[in-house]
Amino acid sequence: MKRLLLPFILLLAACRPDASVCSPDGHVSLRFSLSEEGRPVYAVDVDGAPFIGESALGLDADGLNLSSGFGLKKIQKSSADEEWTQPWGENKTVRDCHNEMSALLKNAEGVELTLRFRMFDDGFAWRYEYEVPACDTILLDGEKTEFRFAEDADSWSIPGNFDTYELKYRKLRLSDVPDANTPMTMRFDGGLYASVHEAAIYDYPEMILRHTDGCSFVSELAPLDRRSGLKAILPGSFKTPWRTVQIAREAVGLINSSLILNLNEPCALEDVSWIKPAKYIGVWWSLHLGLESWGVGPHHGATTEAAIRYIDFAAANNIQGVLFEGWNDGWIGDGAARDFDFTSPAADFDIEKVTAYSRSKGIEFIVHNETGGNVARYEAELERDLDWDAAHGIHYLKTGYAGGGLYGGKHRHSQFGVQHFQKVVEEAAKRHICVDAHEAIKPTGIRRTWPNFMTRECARGMEWNGWSEGNEPFHHEILPFTRLLGGPMDYTPGIFDIDYSNVAGRNPNLRSWGRHASECRTNTTLCKQIANWVILYSPLQMACDLLGNYEGHPAFQFFRDFDADCDESRALQGEPGEFVAIVRRAADRYFYGATTNECARTLVQPLDFLRPGVEYVARIYADGPDADWISNPESYVITEETVTCSDTLEVVMAAGGGQAISFIPKN
Ligand code: CA
Repeated sequence: MKRLLLPFILLLAACRPDASVCSPDGHVSLRFSLSEEGRPVYAVDVDGAPFIGESALGLDADGLNLSSGFGLKKIQKSSADEEWTQPWGENKTVRDCHNEMSALLKNAEGVELTLRFRMFDDGFAWRYEYEVPACDTILLDGEKTEFRFAEDADSWSIPGNFDTYELKYRKLRLSDVPDANTPMTMRFDGGLYASVHEAAIYDYPEMILRHTDGCSFVSELAPLDRRSGLKAILPGSFKTPWRTVQIAREAVGLINSSLILNLNEPCALEDVSWIKPAKYIGVWWSLHLGLESWGVGPHHGATTEAAIRYIDFAAANNIQGVLFEGWNDGWIGDGAARDFDFTSPAADFDIEKVTAYSRSKGIEFIVHNETGGNVARYEAELERDLDWDAAHGIHYLKTGYAGGGLYGGKHRHSQFGVQHFQKVVEEAAKRHICVDAHEAIKPTGIRRTWPNFMTRECARGMEWNGWSEGNEPFHHEILPFTRLLGGPMDYTPGIFDIDYSNVAGRNPNLRSWGRHASECRTNTTLCKQIANWVILYSPLQMACDLLGNYEGHPAFQFFRDFDADCDESRALQGEPGEFVAIVRRAADRYFYGATTNECARTLVQPLDFLRPGVEYVARIYADGPDADWISNPESYVITEETVTCSDTLEVVMAAGGGQAISFIPKN
C-alpha cells in the first residue's frame, strides 16, 4: 500500500503549479501555488529569508465555492516603470515601478479567479478578481486571507473595530496582538519594518486582522450590520481592494513609500484645476473646549459677527479658508442621529452676508454637514444640499458622522459605509466641491482617482484634547508610521494655549462631551504643535486654536509662512512611537518638523535636502531650554540663521516637544 501511495503523491506534486515573481530590485520574492485541495496559497521571502510562510487565500460565500478546487489556467507576467503626477499630495510626482504576475484559476463550478500580484521595491500587494458565471448576486460570508509572518515583531496598531478608529494606539508584540485595524506597522526582530493595509476600497467592506496562532493573522471583514454575519452583497463579477504589505529597511521608508497610491487607478476627473490645498481656521475649538455652543443660544459660536472676524483674520494672515461648525439648524453637538438641514442657517448666522463677505476677501467658506451618522437622511438630501453649497460659491465641505455606528444599525466600516462615502465624493466632484470627512472610512489611496476627497480624520485627532484625558505624548510619533500611511489626516494641530489657562473660568457651566476645558489640556509643548503642521500631512491644514491665542504671538509666523500645497516630501529619520522628522518643499521653500515622545531628544540633522547653491534663512522654532510638556509646555525660542545644504543642525527637543524650521531663500 505504501509503495503505491508514494508515486501518487509525487504525481500530484508535479501537477501543483508553482509560480514566482520578484520586486524590480529582486529583494522581495513571492511564490504562488495551489494546495492539494486546489486552494490558492502564497509565501514571501525578503532578502532570501522567509518573511511570510505559506498562507491561504480565498473568499467564502453562501452556496458558492470561491476558495477551493481550483486548477491553474494561465500565468501572465508584466512590468511597468512610469511617473505620474497629481494635483496635490506629499509628492506631486510619483514613480510606479513594479512587476506583476496574475494567476488565472478556474474550479469545477466554473468560478474564475484571477489573483493579481504586484511587487514593488517597497512592498507587495494582491487582489482577488472573480467571475462567477450565471450569478447576479453573491452573499459574501467572509474573506480568508492569511498573513503567516515568519518571525515575531514589535507592532503598533489600534484594536480592530467596525465602528470607530478613534482609539488609542498600543505597542504590542506581534504574537500578542488579538486583533488590529490597519495600517498595522511592525518592526521584526531581524530589523525589517513592514505595514499591512489595503488599497483602493470600493463597494467592499473594510478589513481588520484577526490573530490565529503564533505570528499569524487572517483578514476579517466588517459585517453589513449588527444583526447579521453577512459581509457584503456583490455582483457575479467583482474585484476586491488590494491587500498591501509595505516593507522598508528603515522606519521612515514606510512613510516615503507611495505603494498605496500606486495601486489606485489614475484620476477620474478631467479638470482638477478647482482642487486646491488650503490652510484654514474656524469656529471649532471653542465648541470642543466647552466655551461656545454648536446650537443657537447665548453662547452660540457661529454667529455672523464671529464669521466676519474669522474671515478678516484669515485674510490678514495668508490663510485661505474658514470652517464654520454650528452654522446650520439641527446639530447641537450631542451625537444624536437627529434630523438636520444643511440648507437652513441658524437664526443668528446670515449666510448670504457671510458668503458674500468671504468671497469679497478671497476666503473659502468651508461648510460643515454634521449628520450624527444619519446616512439615510443625508443621502436623501445630498444632491439638494450640494446644489445649495455650489449656489453659494462653497468649494469645501467638512462632513461629520459623530456617534457609534451609522443609522439603522449599519457598521461604519461596512460595505454600506464604503458606498456612502464614495457617493458623497462623486456627487461633490460634480459640483466642484472638495471633501474633508470626519468619522469616515479608512484612507486607501482613492484620492489619486478622486482628488477632491482631500483629507479625513479616522484616528484620534485634536478634538480629544478638548474633552478627554487627551492624546498621549507618543500618539503623534505613531500616527505618521500607521494611520498616515493610508493618506492625509485632518488632525487639526496648532494649540498655543496648551494648558487652556487663557480661558480658565470662562462659561464654567458649558460642557462638550461631558467636560469643560478646565478639566483638560494638550499633552505636548507649543513647538511640537507647530512641527505637527508639517508632520501630520493634510492638504487642508488647520490652525485650530482660538484667534486670541494667535493674535500677536511671534510663533504664529510659522503658519503664515507655511504652504499647505507642497511639491515633495521626505521623512528623514524616526522610529514609531519615539520620534520623527519630516521635510516638505513647497515651491522654493522648505518646511521641517521634528517631534519626540515623552523623552527629551536631540537629533543631528544634515540639511542635504536643501537645493545646492542656495542660501536660506532658517527660522527655527525650538522648545525653550526650560520647556517640558508637563510643567512648562509653552516655553519656546525663535532664532534665525543663514544655512546651505552642506550645513548640519542640532535639533534639540524637550520631553514631549518638537521643533519646526522654515527655510526661505535669501534672495
Ligand atoms: Ca471625530
